Amino acid sequence: MDVIRKFDPWDGELCTCPEKYSLNPYTGCGHRCIYCYSTYIPNFFESRRKKDIVDRVKKDLQKIPKGSLVSLSNSSDPYLPMDRKYEDTRRCLEALKDGRMKVLVVTKGVHLKRDIDILKEMDAAVTISICTLKDEIKQKLEPNAPTGQKRLDLVKSLSKEDIPVGIRFDPIFPYLTEDEIPRIVEKANEAGAEHIVSSTFKARGDSWKRFKLGFPDTAKKLKELYFEKGEKIDNSYYLPEGKRKEILGKVAEECEEHGIPFATCREGLPTLTTSQSCDGSHLMS
Ligand code: SF4
Repeated sequence: MDVIRKFDPWDGELCTCPEKYSLNPYTGCGHRCIYCYSTYIPNFFESRRKKDIVDRVKKDLQKIPKGSLVSLSNSSDPYLPMDRKYEDTRRCLEALKDGRMKVLVVTKGVHLKRDIDILKEMDAAVTISICTLKDEIKQKLEPNAPTGQKRLDLVKSLSKEDIPVGIRFDPIFPYLTEDEIPRIVEKANEAGAEHIVSSTFKARGDSWKRFKLGFPDTAKKLKELYFEKGEKIDNSYYLPEGKRKEILGKVAEECEEHGIPFATCREGLPTLTTSQSCDGSHLMS
């Protein structure tokens, strides 16, 4: 397999995803989120095209069973600004449609709207990532990504077109975005989200450095929580379990109030999950 690979999040014990394949139409991601977990890929924030991507997708599709679940994308964003010009993601979707695959799209890119026609013809679901609705925070956390409001508008458009859509409310930062939990769940519900998956920020060497630069005051408050009271799992620093339960329990509570199924992502807190899948793949037929 060349560009479609088995989804394997570093063999992480905490991952509850169903078996699926992963396809990243582009390498790297220009959204430049300071919390990004994919920066182990060289020059990650310089997004670039993959040579002959569609031919390579077609070749890989001959090696996997029809009806397999392909998630796009897990380590970049399929709707990067450059995709407006090149449309590689659309051409990959067309190949996946011809190959009769199920598709789960995960994105912050609002020009996904362009591909609603093709998604409607597929067994597909979409998850839109949102971690704040405050523009001044978004600007520092995810400098080149669309605003939270634009992403909510996209959720609304997808819902209107009967394309199953959920929200990845992720990551949540104590002292910075946790106060937005009720509002984000309420707005997600109004927009038509059928599923919410959430997790807390996990600090890694480089993401912590970027976070400290962007939010020095919050970082001072978080340092003890992550690095003294928290725990290290694989190569990430987690908040103490009690704090994770408190934050994600709040999201679960708000979801319950609005009747939205909820799941956590790589937290080891299965009792909070009410949804049939963590990644939203159950939204497909
Ligand atoms: S959109 Fe995702 S892959 Fe791209 S920089 Fe942000 S977190 Fe990383």
